Amino acid sequence: MSDKKSKGQQLQKELSYKKKNYYESADQAEKKAIFDYAKGYMAFLDAAKTEREACDFAVSAAQAKGFTEYKFGDALHAGDKKYFVNRGKSVVVFRVGVKNLEEDGIRLIASHIDAPRIDIKQNPLYEDSGMAFLKTHYYGGIKKYQWTAIPLALHGVIIKKDGTKVEIRVGENVKDPVFYINDLLPHLGQEQMSGHANKIIDGEQLNVLVGGMPYDDEDASEKIKLNVLSALYKAYGVTEEDFLSAELSAVPAFAARDVGFDRALIGAYGHDDRVCAYPALTAVLDNESEHTVLAMLVDKEEIGSEGTTGIQCKVYEDLMEEISLSLGANFRKVRAHSKCLSSDVTAAYDPNFAGVYEKMNSAILSCGTAMCKFTGARGKSGSNDASAEFVGEVRKMFAEEGVIWQTAELGKVDVGGGGTVAKFIAQLNIDTVDLGVPVISMHAPWEVVSKADLYSNYKAFLAFMK
Ligand code: MN
Ligand code: MN
Repeated sequence: MSDKKSKGQQLQKELSYKKKNYYESADQAEKKAIFDYAKGYMAFLDAAKTEREACDFAVSAAQAKGFTEYKFGDALHAGDKKYFVNRGKSVVVFRVGVKNLEEDGIRLIASHIDAPRIDIKQNPLYEDSGMAFLKTHYYGGIKKYQWTAIPLALHGVIIKKDGTKVEIRVGENVKDPVFYINDLLPHLGQEQMSGHANKIIDGEQLNVLVGGMPYDDEDASEKIKLNVLSALYKAYGVTEEDFLSAELSAVPAFAARDVGFDRALIGAYGHDDRVCAYPALTAVLDNESEHTVLAMLVDKEEIGSEGTTGIQCKVYEDLMEEISLSLGANFRKVRAHSKCLSSDVTAAYDPNFAGVYEKMNSAILSCGTAMCKFTGARGKSGSNDASAEFVGEVRKMFAEEGVIWQTAELGKVDVGGGGTVAKFIAQLNIDTVDLGVPVISMHAPWEVVSKADLYSNYKAFLAFMK
């Protein structure tokens, strides 16, 4: 055997395509950068479990980098670093470039900061058989059974009768109490376990356990419920009626942790889509590009991008139009020359469930951030389906900056399906393609990603904005 490659081996190297494992391709300095970047991301995960908290985090991070708040009508100039807050639940961070906006457009990254969770109903509190519970209505696509028998934290806001807002965040500090959704013991679970997985626990059984001690008064009724109400009144000055105008969510009380002996992976609640939102945010904050760059961190993606904080709301279009106006640019020309990475997670190939994936076109863990030319279901239904020209343009940007990345499709043709915000941005006449981090156990209370893919995503965003 000689070291020299045979003609066939040489040709194979020149002509064939093979995905690269980012860890394998990275030198020591790059590996250190991958691990260092993950630390900041994990701090973000623990600080921001809801869209409101992610929005607050983004504002603080932007302010620390010299960004200031933008309001419609404000004058803008090249070099301005701004953030725009939409109802405290979504935020757009942008930097005005020196290039002509009409000719160069905006380099835009869109990701979402809401995640599947268990929302508390508007009239939630009751007691039964020694326990007090909150009724819930889940948010987003979940496997309901996964949310039982784990510690939960309560996050959100209560708007009192007088309009004042009370912020709630209980269960994240080790000294805090946590909450819980009961499951059935296996001894009595024979019938439960023989049914359809969707029926293991019903939506109306996802009641959150919040108390177990009666109020100390012989004459009072519903004493366990009263004791909870009394504790809530003492802590927050709220009454049962205040739940009517509250937005409270039960989320997993777990913190983000390294996964594996080699610490290559991160386990956490809500990687979808914070694992794209954090790189989008930091890429704009760290940016020194000549382009006008903008990151949208939006809400409501998990329920169809609806409402005033979802991407379908006109506010995001209005904002880009206002930016154009204040820079003396025609918005139609601006958006015609804008480019967008719709940044959302995709499914990582999982050999334990090989049957639902087509391996050649699935995202492989640690092979970099994954581009989905199209999403949708069956015959690409509901998909943006980016053009080969735009994919080629983005591919060139990544190649020039040495980004390790891959393409991906979410599962087998007849099995998979899913949508992102891409199609809504494309409607504005903005070239858009999906790019995001592969996730193991997506939408589970605790999901897993690779630190290498997270950093690849950040590098891809910097390359796109360069
Ligand atoms: Mn998502
Ligand atoms: Mn999702």
